[in-house]
Amino acid sequence: MHPEVQQDKPGNCPICGMALEPISVTAETPEVSDEAKDMLPRVGWVGGIGALFSLPVLALAMAHLIPGFHIDHWVAPR
Ligand SMILES: [Zn+2]
Repeated sequence: MHPEVQQDKPGNCPICGMALEPISVTAETPEVSDEAKDMLPRVGWVGGIGALFSLPVLALAMAHLIPGFHIDHWVAPR
């Protein structure tokens, strides 16, 4: 977000606190950063809980698109 901020070592932006990204571009697959390793378990839990609660909503909203399936036989419209 602040391209004028450059350091010769990994760190965070002193203005906004975001992790600094390397300027160099490589064709190699990057290793998982420590920041990502710290964040992935939390995203997994939150994403799993979000998916758990969103699936019924998705099913109720999209059930009318399935030919021959009448959601109102399973769940009262109100
Ligand atoms: Zn910044």
